[in-house]
Amino acid sequence: MRELSAYFCPRCGHYAYFQLPKNAVCCGCHVSMKRINMPYQNFMDMNREERDRYISCRIIEASPSLAERISAPDKLYNQRRLIGQLTEEYSKLETENQSLNQTVDWMHKTIWEQLHRMKELEYKLREMEKRREM
Ligand SMILES: [Zn+2]
Repeated sequence: MRELSAYFCPRCGHYAYFQLPKNAVCCGCHVSMKRINMPYQNFMDMNREERDRYISCRIIEASPSLAERISAPDKLYNQRRLIGQLTEEYSKLETENQSLNQTVDWMHKTIWEQLHRMKELEYKLREMEKRREM
């Protein structure tokens, strides 16, 4: 029997154990999971926090651009810097999302205004036709 290996999802951090690499697919994200490069038993022996930290580091490593950005200024892995970067990224996305929502609101409003105007025009047109018929 083949030995179990631990795998993690580079997208959501979910981890699981598989015998065959082809079975290592994240149940939530449906992407292939990456093998954790340590004996299964060692991974099992870590506590929850250690596993979380270990996988977090592997996720960052698996994302070259993020790892590069984080380590570029001082070539040193710095958790505070990472949190800072992620927070900044998050607030950027939040702002972006907000302005998208505003755009949608604005579009809704505009569409309603257009509809109103069309109804008005329709009404005027009908009135004019009525007058012509008289
Ligand atoms: Zn996943």
